[in-house]
Amino acid sequence: MSNGRPNYEAAQVESERQDAWERRDAFATELPPEGRRAIYIKPSSPFTSGNLHMGHVRDYSIGDAYARFRRARGDAVLFGFGFDAFGLPAEMAAIERKVPPAEWVERCGERMLGQMKRLGFSFDYERAFYSSDESQYRWSQWLFLTLLEAGLIHRADTTVDWCDHCRTTLAALQVEDGACWRCHNEVRLIRRPTWFLGIAPYLEENDRRLAELEASGDWDEISLSTQRYILGRSDGVEVELEGPGGAPLLAFSPHAEALAEASFVLLSPRHPELEALVADPGVREQLEELRSGGWERSARDAKSVPLVDTGADATAPWSGAALPLLVSPLADARYGPTAALGIPAADEADATLAGRAPRVGEGAPPAAGSPPAARPAVRYRATDFSISRQRFWGTPIPIVHCEACGPVPVPEEQLPVVLPRDVEPTGEGNPLAELPSFVETSCPRCGEPARRETDTLDCHFDALWLWVPSAVPPSERAEQMFTHPDLRRWLPSERLVAGADSGGFVFDQRVVTKALRDIGPFAFMEAGEPFSGCLFHEMVIADGRKMSKHLGNVVDPDELVERYGADTVRLAVLYAAGPAKTLNWNDGALRFASRFLHNLWVYAQERFARLEQAPEDPEAAADTEFMRERLGKWCDNGVARITDDLEQLQMHTAVRNVTRLFERIQDFEKRVVKRRGALSRADAEAQVAALVLLVRTLAPFAPHAAEALLLAAGEEDGEGLPGAWPEQETLTVPV
Ligand SMILES: [Zn+2]
Ligand SMILES: [Zn+2]
Repeated sequence: MSNGRPNYEAAQVESERQDAWERRDAFATELPPEGRRAIYIKPSSPFTSGNLHMGHVRDYSIGDAYARFRRARGDAVLFGFGFDAFGLPAEMAAIERKVPPAEWVERCGERMLGQMKRLGFSFDYERAFYSSDESQYRWSQWLFLTLLEAGLIHRADTTVDWCDHCRTTLAALQVEDGACWRCHNEVRLIRRPTWFLGIAPYLEENDRRLAELEASGDWDEISLSTQRYILGRSDGVEVELEGPGGAPLLAFSPHAEALAEASFVLLSPRHPELEALVADPGVREQLEELRSGGWERSARDAKSVPLVDTGADATAPWSGAALPLLVSPLADARYGPTAALGIPAADEADATLAGRAPRVGEGAPPAAGSPPAARPAVRYRATDFSISRQRFWGTPIPIVHCEACGPVPVPEEQLPVVLPRDVEPTGEGNPLAELPSFVETSCPRCGEPARRETDTLDCHFDALWLWVPSAVPPSERAEQMFTHPDLRRWLPSERLVAGADSGGFVFDQRVVTKALRDIGPFAFMEAGEPFSGCLFHEMVIADGRKMSKHLGNVVDPDELVERYGADTVRLAVLYAAGPAKTLNWNDGALRFASRFLHNLWVYAQERFARLEQAPEDPEAAADTEFMRERLGKWCDNGVARITDDLEQLQMHTAVRNVTRLFERIQDFEKRVVKRRGALSRADAEAQVAALVLLVRTLAPFAPHAAEALLLAAGEEDGEGLPGAWPEQETLTVPV
């Protein structure tokens, strides 16, 4: 029945519905009985920046619509997330405000949770967590030790930027035009040991599984293409050369047809046999420098990338030609840590490199001879990466350095290695290294005094498993984070919904899932894939440009919600563009969504209210029966389309189809009125049934307004709302 409000008051409707959801704990995750589908929808994990931006609103509006749709269809849904709370941006913000990062992060998280609730996102908020909580990073430490033991983590030297004035290493983000962000002193490079995650053992499988994921149809094109890009697969052949000492050296080339024209060999500085191939100490020193990555700030193209001539040659057995061995990181950038044939005749980059190496082409022309049948081969560009940082705000690395024993893992029962929470980093020095209470300890192996590792893990490492905790009840995470039986029900996640820039995270999460499958805890996930479906969406921009404070074009979701209401904002974000398109924000979509909700609200309320007044008129009813039948077909078709769109997470077309169905329903009334002057009871009942059906299909997108309209149509407030998704057999409206 009408609640007497002629106008759509979004703020009031939304706060009433949000209170009702809170009262009935509407989004609590319930483990389904066996046989019922369990669907874990994973949204992106926000950084604790303190503000949701429009990209978040887009992400969560898509994920929330999908979650609500799945619930309405009877699936058990887990829709949960955690904050990616460690990392440099939070540490820098805390330094600026002179507060401990722990405090800053908590304040930011609270605020963002409030924004999410105001937008009506149906997360299981009880399951939300912060990666910076002790109970969480204890498991990041466990993961570190587990991967270390499996041989997937190693320690090696690298170069990092160093500020003499601040006595600290700097991240790329903290170096502005070669100067320190804090004191503007010039920075210099220093060498230091750092920890690396090895992903090489799983590249081939990540590649192979990608074909399966594509075949499933549940990975959209952007998510697949980012995985392919990060993998960087090259197809070609490999041939065996004779190395300087006579030992065989395998060389790869993507140019199978031009092997005979090879004139040098390009080695990666990380080629496993490089040490054995190079004897000259001067050359070795140059190679060390290359390996430590000090070249990275220079250009990376063939013209300017560092190139070292080892002075040694390999021999092509088929022709006797001497091929100079050159070393360059360009090999990595193209094919990974391997050796590649340099074929200037077939390859532009090779030609450029050859021009920079005087020895290439100097020797006698090779005797004619064709290379042996080359074996097909594949190389991957994706490579091991550094996971440790000289920062305060991160997971402490559970390692103790002992004079006698070297780096020793902290025994699992001594976890967590606790990060002090009351420290206010200043940007000077390394706060952990300067805290004797943190640093000084004893060696777990020999008991002698020893020092804790003072590097922390990059937050990328926390993110490797940030999709796991939501699937475990909060009270049981301390004991069973990776072994809880619920994991088998919820994993792999049915759908990841994330920004198009998340490809790197997802790639590494896919690697670590396979590692944990082989190590044991995730043995039940045979494919080693954390996400069986994946939707990547593009970003939200304004005036054709990325939003930034600097440009003054930041759209604030809070202001929009205040002015138009959450449902209108959500509907507008979904309607404005498909996920694969960049959303160039403008008020057009907002005006459209606002007008639609207002019109539907008033129209439906009026029809619900005057249903009883429509006269019973059998003769009129018989005369318009064909119209009601047509209305029924329109509803059938509309719901079928909207369902299809939702299954594919194509929310923009789903919203369009919802608005079209509303036009059909209005059209029905106009036609009946034109023919008979008014709606008979049968017509009015059919129309109200169609409106109720329409409102149910609107519920995933504009959940507050939809529920309020269902109440106005006479449904009871409570767990039954918004009711089951209209399925084929329930579609036909009364005729
Ligand atoms: Zn400085
Ligand atoms: Zn020791």
